[in-house]
Amino acid sequence: MRETDSVRLPKGQEWAIETALYCLRRGRVAQAQLIVGPLEADAMVFAEVMAMAQFCDRLDAGACLPCGDCYGCLGVIKRTHPDLHWTAAEGTLGIDEVRAIAAASQVRPAVGAANVFVIEACERLTGPAAAALLKTLEDPPGAALFILTASAPAQMEPTLCSRCLPLRLRPMSAADLVPWLLQQQSALAADEAEAIVHMAGGWPGRALAIAQRWPSSRDAPPWLAQLVAGLLAGTSAEAAVAAAELASASASPETALAVLRDTLVYREDLSSRIGSVSGLDVGDIETLSAAYSQHGLGLCLEACMQALQAADANVNASLNWYVLFIRLQRLRRSCYAPTQGGLRVREER
Ligand SMILES: [Zn+2]
Repeated sequence: MRETDSVRLPKGQEWAIETALYCLRRGRVAQAQLIVGPLEADAMVFAEVMAMAQFCDRLDAGACLPCGDCYGCLGVIKRTHPDLHWTAAEGTLGIDEVRAIAAASQVRPAVGAANVFVIEACERLTGPAAAALLKTLEDPPGAALFILTASAPAQMEPTLCSRCLPLRLRPMSAADLVPWLLQQQSALAADEAEAIVHMAGGWPGRALAIAQRWPSSRDAPPWLAQLVAGLLAGTSAEAAVAAAELASASASPETALAVLRDTLVYREDLSSRIGSVSGLDVGDIETLSAAYSQHGLGLCLEACMQALQAADANVNASLNWYVLFIRLQRLRRSCYAPTQGGLRVREER
């Protein structure tokens, strides 16, 4: 397969692209495709390439990939193509949003042969919204392609899943992914790249996103105790207090990422090799490590990356911290319970 500089190919998913484009070239594309993979990078890039393949002016029987720089492709990258309807993962995905999608699907495409609807994180659909979307898919408006993405399809309405052709992206082995990551981020040490790949569960896009935010060593900031309190908040009131204190101290979610990174490194027994960066003492790291499962910590990392993006987009700082803490609360082990006299960790059975 030919790689171009302009199209960001999802690393390791070339087989899936080939399959999808093969069907597309033969006019055998399913009307609704469900891409399963972590949303923040891998599944999203894949959805982008599929949408580009619909609109690319230079994709003919001979070309393997959309070119990435024609009117159609750029319209996808910038999300400005008139026939592209992209529903991002922020906010709710309720009946109103799905009604808007259904209405748009009845309108003829403005420039291309078909309207393309990308709907991110379909596990967020409420029951009535999923039912409404199913109705739209069952009663095809003709010239429309639906590209749904989900990182946890088990949480989706089964009937909606069964109406879509699934394309399950695969994580890569560390042996394949570590050299690629080192090539992308030359400042990383091999040990660090290994730790990142492990944290990312072998997902290339996620690994790259973590590597780009990989925190460097820092002195413990004065508000580190508030941050730990927020990360372990047992109630929404505690989360709100910690969030307000961190916002007034102008704390950045970068430090939360550093704390999570240290917890994962400790958990993986890598701390003697690559050291800690957050300035947190070992007792607090142990407490955090006990409060979350390994899988939970991976999801925490994802929530933290979202908080960083929100901070970049100037979302209200206190609200951003609060949302992060509430999200993390839900990811915590149920056996973990903060007590009045301090933090206590119950033994796992
Ligand atoms: Zn193109």
